[in-house]
Amino acid sequence: MLVAHHSLNKEGPLMPYRWPEDTQFTRIALAVEEQWCRTCGGALTICDHRHHRVFTLTGPLHLVCKLAHCPTRACPAHPQTLSPEAETAIAMPWWVLGWDVVCWLGQRRFARHWSVGQIRAELADTYQIRLSADAIETYMHRYQQMLAARRQAPDQLAAAYADVEAVMLAIDGLQPEKGHETLYVVRELERKRVWFAEPLLSSATTEVQQLLVQARVWAERLGKRVRLWMSDKQDAFVRGIAAEFPGVPHRYCANHFLRDVAKPVLEADSHAKVQMRRTVRGLRTIEREVFAAQRTSEPPALLVPPCEATPCDAVQADEASQDVVLDYCAAVRGILNDDQGGPLHPPGLRMAEALEDVHASLQRNLETKKGGLLTTDSGGWPATSTGG
Ligand SMILES: [Zn+2]
Repeated sequence: MLVAHHSLNKEGPLMPYRWPEDTQFTRIALAVEEQWCRTCGGALTICDHRHHRVFTLTGPLHLVCKLAHCPTRACPAHPQTLSPEAETAIAMPWWVLGWDVVCWLGQRRFARHWSVGQIRAELADTYQIRLSADAIETYMHRYQQMLAARRQAPDQLAAAYADVEAVMLAIDGLQPEKGHETLYVVRELERKRVWFAEPLLSSATTEVQQLLVQARVWAERLGKRVRLWMSDKQDAFVRGIAAEFPGVPHRYCANHFLRDVAKPVLEADSHAKVQMRRTVRGLRTIEREVFAAQRTSEPPALLVPPCEATPCDAVQADEASQDVVLDYCAAVRGILNDDQGGPLHPPGLRMAEALEDVHASLQRNLETKKGGLLTTDSGGWPATSTGG
């Protein structure tokens, strides 16, 4: 229960809650369940009252816990004070939130990914529970502790691994910010469970080794063989796993592998882009020709309309065609300048596909023109998927 242990150490004391004076509490008196002293058999008597005020989703409660003891001075149990167990079914003794509120918080935070601010506002609006952001964070911590404790409970774990023949383990260090301690997480990949986590200030082999020892103890307790370890190539992992799990294959993590493979892929892709840019050129020349033609209103040679059209139609057709040519130029320029994309979506590959689309689109236009179907409306601009 490393997670729970650590969070408890860090949590620190919480400020006592200051209840508004007009809070309407429902008062519940709780008595110790047993009536007789377990040691001497005499009747227990009430020796004190503990007042515990808690929020629940159905309103604030004032729990009056009747504490009891054995009144017989000679009885060895006399100094012990007993408190009603029913209290812990509503809330832990020093908590200001009942279990229902804590579960609500945890569900909103971890299943719905609400922010602390959202949770805070919803608690205030819907349940009239006013808490500081600090307090909400503390209770979310407690929720996580319970969750971790539950996931690590030996019988739960044994049940989860009942039909697993061998386990695969992974270790990784996560550093939220530079200079912060690193959280080392040991995960099991067959059942996809976080086994445990421990923040370490140093990545020294000896410290990491303790986590690996712990992992070995867990696997032994489950009675499962370790089939595989996965991690990055950090020295502490490489040495530690070899020492603690001799003979168990140690594979390096696919992400790191992918990163190494990505470099030559991107280099080849970038080379291909240069080649394509070298081949597809002269955009500016074409545009200049069109602009010149527009100024003189003379149709450029390459855009002569079908000869049976009247002169007036021809001028309109020219204007439309000129716009089409400029649109193509813009689209191709966009394609050539597109540099987005990582190794899994190489930009050069996308560029090649887009240029092919443009090529196909031009081809369709040419065929349409050969058939004498070029019209003066925008239908002369067939659907293209240049992506530019
Ligand atoms: Zn007694």
